[in-house]
Amino acid sequence: MNLHADYAMTIDGRSVPGEATIDVINPATGEPFATAPDCSKAQLDAAVACAKRAFKTWRETPIVERQTMVAKAGDLLITHADEMARLFTREQGRPVEAAKQEIEGAGKWMKEVAQMSPPAHVSEDSDTQLIETRYVPLGVICAIAPWNFPVNLAMWKVAPALVAGNTMVLKPSPFTPLCTLKIGEMFRSAFPPGVLNVISGGDELGPMMTSHPGFAKISFTGSTATGKRVMESAAKDLKRITLELGGNDAAIVLPDVDLDVVAEKIFFSAFFNTAQICVATKRLYVHEAIYDGLRDRLAAIAGAAKVGDGAEQGTALGPIQNKRQYDRVMALLEDAKANQLTLIQGGEIRNNGGYFVPVTIVDNPPENSRVVQEEAFGPILPMLKFSDIDDVIDRANATDYGLGGTVWCGDPDKALRIARRLETGTVWVNQLLNLRPDTPFAGRKQSGFGVENGMDGLLEYMAPQAVYLAR
Ligand code: NAD
Repeated sequence: MNLHADYAMTIDGRSVPGEATIDVINPATGEPFATAPDCSKAQLDAAVACAKRAFKTWRETPIVERQTMVAKAGDLLITHADEMARLFTREQGRPVEAAKQEIEGAGKWMKEVAQMSPPAHVSEDSDTQLIETRYVPLGVICAIAPWNFPVNLAMWKVAPALVAGNTMVLKPSPFTPLCTLKIGEMFRSAFPPGVLNVISGGDELGPMMTSHPGFAKISFTGSTATGKRVMESAAKDLKRITLELGGNDAAIVLPDVDLDVVAEKIFFSAFFNTAQICVATKRLYVHEAIYDGLRDRLAAIAGAAKVGDGAEQGTALGPIQNKRQYDRVMALLEDAKANQLTLIQGGEIRNNGGYFVPVTIVDNPPENSRVVQEEAFGPILPMLKFSDIDDVIDRANATDYGLGGTVWCGDPDKALRIARRLETGTVWVNQLLNLRPDTPFAGRKQSGFGVENGMDGLLEYMAPQAVYLAR
């Protein structure tokens, strides 16, 4: 497989070029370097139709066979992670080693999901009747992925949906279509034709998919604003939905932590992937007794961070992934400057052609400033002081988002009590960004609707069927 040319869609197990194309831009240069197919309405119809056909056989294929195929697909990703990493970096921006980790990690994730099976319940098994509940697949799944973790978040959908017996039409973000198209090509050997179709296109393709009557369910990861549009579109024919959306995660740092240890970890949880992580620390609440110490340590780490082309050795943080997001982040920075907020900036920018933003810590801004209230999804971290636990929990919860949160504290029991009061689907205590295939991931409030991962996530791709048999 040539990773550096021939980006085609996969429909019914075959390579399908676009009738038109979209440009794919390297965010480190701002220049287009490849094109991807722009799927037409007729091609979308063809993808849905063949997925529907394939569903009839796939749902009857024994689950162990489906699991084996999903696990083998995971192995393919692991085998090709090294060579695919450079393509990932070119389209997404992240440094190569971390890009490889995402691809390899997605392969391992698929293998773990491949070990999961839905339960079956027997409510009664007597002389007069048998009543059992089994879980059945839904049909054709519409999967829509974002650009920040393009491989990982797509495979979070592919693995459980296919294990459950559904077929799928998967669409990557128009900003990062290439690795996903190549994975579609690679998986032609892993699944029967029509089981996994991969299409790409511009801004019109997402709405075209969510309004398509052939889908039984939409699994969407992206922004809260788009999630609302997806829900509206799905309402027309009551499609099932799972929405994984934005976040504005708070981290709370208590005064008894070892600052030298936590500073590095907090920096990573706020800035890894140039802060383009749904569950990144986006508001950092620090006890006043240690505020200055932690700020100075974070400033030192930020000062040493190398921001540049992810393809170059030694780059710690790549560019913002796309121009639209870059403009949004720069507008937030301009707003902070216009309001005379104190900015501590680091990150030696080694290349000025791309969408680079300096690593920025905002020193104790007012709670109502835009950098605190909005999801930046870029390297701008507001750091805020607190003195009272009840007050800081109220401030952490005073948001429409409810994705994740973190507590850093020397006393685990106290930390757990605080963690349990955060109104979020995931909470970490003295660790960061840990997610597992066997553990549910679900945003509360406007961070999501439904669940991914864990048994709850698998069952979102299935429906219970109660069977009553008279004896
Ligand atoms: P986005 O909402 O702009 O786009 C996501 C996907 O939706 C893309 O594939 C896009 O083409 C498609 N799309 C756009 N408009 C559509 C429409 N009207 N109908 C259907 N599809 C449409 O999000 P993004 O900028 O790619 O991603 C960043 C956002 O995603 C952030 O808010 C981040 O927090 C969130 N995110 C959430 C999770 C999570 O698991 N909760 C994970 C990663 C990212």
